[in-house]
Amino acid sequence: MDKNLIHLRNIIESNGYKFTKQKQYILKVLINAKSHLSAEDIYQIVRVDSVGIATVYRTLKKLKELNIVKEINIDGTNFYEMKIFGGRPLHIHFKCNECNSIMDIYNRSLILDYLKLNNNAEKENNFTVFDADIMLIGLCSECREKKICQDQLNLEE
Ligand SMILES: [Zn+2]
Ligand SMILES: [Zn+2]
Repeated sequence: MDKNLIHLRNIIESNGYKFTKQKQYILKVLINAKSHLSAEDIYQIVRVDSVGIATVYRTLKKLKELNIVKEINIDGTNFYEMKIFGGRPLHIHFKCNECNSIMDIYNRSLILDYLKLNNNAEKENNFTVFDADIMLIGLCSECREKKICQDQLNLEE
């Protein structure tokens, strides 16, 4: 078994859960994911291994509670990504209002700002911060292009 999966197994088992085959399949999908997946997306991949949709929902809920996956809600649909071992560093999200795609935004200075924000919030309010959930909302570059073209057409009419 790969090193990351062994580490995840330790987290899961030390919290009193079984590291089932189903959990393993779902984690593998999430680790290898190139984008944010919904429960339905995950189900479409793991169904070949006879994992049912109810198991996918139950497992995702547990993985979320254990802080292994992150849940992002977009217009009532939940999307998931690995918090650890996902191969993607700390990032914030951008959601396009037009095509509903979610993109990851990361760069070094952004991560430093992010940590600064956490530190300030902790210091100023006597909080403990576990996680930050930043979602920028707007128009992605493709939809922006389309909108500009559309506006131009409308002007010409
Ligand atoms: Zn878009
Ligand atoms: Zn993301």
